[in-house]
Amino acid sequence: MIVRKSPAEVEIMARAGKVVADVHEILRDLVRPGVSTAELDEVAERECRSRGAVPSFKGYRGFPATLCTSVNAEIVHGIPSANVVLREGDLIKIDAGAIVEGYHGDSAVTWIVGGETSVAPQVADLVERTRAGLWAGLCAAQSGARLTDISAAVEAHALPHEYGVVQEYVGHGIGRALHEDPHVPNYGRAGRGPKLQPGLVIAVEPMFNLGTADTRVLDDDWTVVTADGALSSHWEHTVAITEDGPWVLTARSDEPAWPLREPHRVPTAGSDGEATRHRESALLDAQEAG
Ligand code: MG
Ligand code: MG
Repeated sequence: MIVRKSPAEVEIMARAGKVVADVHEILRDLVRPGVSTAELDEVAERECRSRGAVPSFKGYRGFPATLCTSVNAEIVHGIPSANVVLREGDLIKIDAGAIVEGYHGDSAVTWIVGGETSVAPQVADLVERTRAGLWAGLCAAQSGARLTDISAAVEAHALPHEYGVVQEYVGHGIGRALHEDPHVPNYGRAGRGPKLQPGLVIAVEPMFNLGTADTRVLDDDWTVVTADGALSSHWEHTVAITEDGPWVLTARSDEPAWPLREPHRVPTAGSDGEATRHRESALLDAQEAG
């Protein structure tokens, strides 16, 4: 059952999203060779709680940590550990969620430890194209569109490069529960599924692999890895469908948040002054429109 949110509920979800965005921005500056994923997790929990929020994942079905930290061939649901110390050239996927007044925000990033010159161009391309797939999906989350318009927009960024598009794990509705209906696949033909209506809030989260799409779960019963051991990238944002366009509730300060009126516009990686200006002017426009 799809639960649509009132504008007031979406405003609360935006506050949860802001906490998640803040946490990601803080962690981004800490990701470097020598830092352990347990250290990142500790900072994430502290920063989350200091903002009056509760980590979404900790205790969720018994998950032990604030973050999911997944390195290299790990796709999602990796458990932070003092024994996992990042090295130059690692891909670290950080997934974070926060609850404010009972509502969740959910967002994931893929950072290249040491920066993109630390990896082969094909690896940097995987990361960037997965991120572009996310933004294509977010831009497709327009009121009146169909659910799989998002799926097709995401997958279009993988198909030309023959990336494995993970099928066993997909995006999802989000609200009072971390995972709500509908499922949001990262593959498939456009024009199907429920019509996107204002108040629908979903997490779009492509996972692209350099090899097969197939996955398996490690003995810890959480960590999902690529079946062939190839590298994987994962990016995620929580987005609300509004009359005025998609509102990216977990957007970081260097990304546009609302409304995404220009489907072709994908912010470039890293700090992007233009995207920030775009967001600010969009917000001004929205305020003027009342
Ligand atoms: Mg997530
Ligand atoms: Mg999610």
